[in-house]
Amino acid sequence: MKVELIQLEEDRIRFLLSGATAAFANGLRRACMSEVPTLAIDEISLYDNTSVLFDEQIGLRIGMIPLQVEDLDLFSEPEECQCGGEGCPGCRVDFMLSVEGPGMVYSRDLQFTDPGVKPAFDKIPIVILGEGEKLVIEGYATKHAGREHSKWQSGTLCGYKNLPTIEIGDCSGCGKCVEVCPRKVLVLEDGRAKATNILECSLCKLCIEECDAGAIKVVPVLDSFVLSIETSGCMPVKELVARASDGIRKRAETLDRKLAELS
Ligand code: SF4
Ligand code: SF4
Ligand SMILES: [Zn+2]
Repeated sequence: MKVELIQLEEDRIRFLLSGATAAFANGLRRACMSEVPTLAIDEISLYDNTSVLFDEQIGLRIGMIPLQVEDLDLFSEPEECQCGGEGCPGCRVDFMLSVEGPGMVYSRDLQFTDPGVKPAFDKIPIVILGEGEKLVIEGYATKHAGREHSKWQSGTLCGYKNLPTIEIGDCSGCGKCVEVCPRKVLVLEDGRAKATNILECSLCKLCIEECDAGAIKVVPVLDSFVLSIETSGCMPVKELVARASDGIRKRAETLDRKLAELS
């Protein structure tokens, strides 16, 4: 198996995975979305809400704010914590929100008791308060994975496609395929079509339908995949992919061990 980096930013990565099965590529995608735990606001007590939004709407908005943690490994999931899920500093981070209008309440107004925890983005709007309107909330965040609820989803936009190959045979240079390609993969050069940035090809095959000469072949490479992974902002994308891969390795080792016990 081989991995080649195509693009890396703080919150998104694209890489080419070769010599792998579709099941493995999909497993990595799913692990990024569902298996990498993070913190999210879990329970709230609303002491005052005179805003235009119902309590439930406020709760939903606050729950979906991604949180960054200085050291995620310091926290346990409540079910695995030494407190037995009762709630303690090892599995809970308390917060307070107290704002009076007029003005917009933003994610940055959430004040966590642990200085190592903060919203991933300062300016996620929660609600606009009018003159004299108030929002006073207390609550806590817990650590879970996306399989529990999407608010704990560390990886948001995670997808993959087969690496395409494009062959152009007897081309008349009519340019129809260039016009129809939504990804601008094809260009006309020296009177014939040519594929340029192949990684952008979505394998939609519109070019094949458009080519009266039947000159284009678009074929997926069955053991090579372009993976695109994006985080919610709760952790750098490199950490997300590393944690997801590590989780797969550990589960595979557990399976191996259990199979060995059975044989
Ligand atoms: S549509 Fe076919 S013939 Fe026309 S430029 Fe494209 S490949 Fe060549
Ligand atoms: S398959 Fe679609 S994206 Fe790929 S080259 Fe053809 S038209 Fe463009
Ligand atoms: Zn605990």
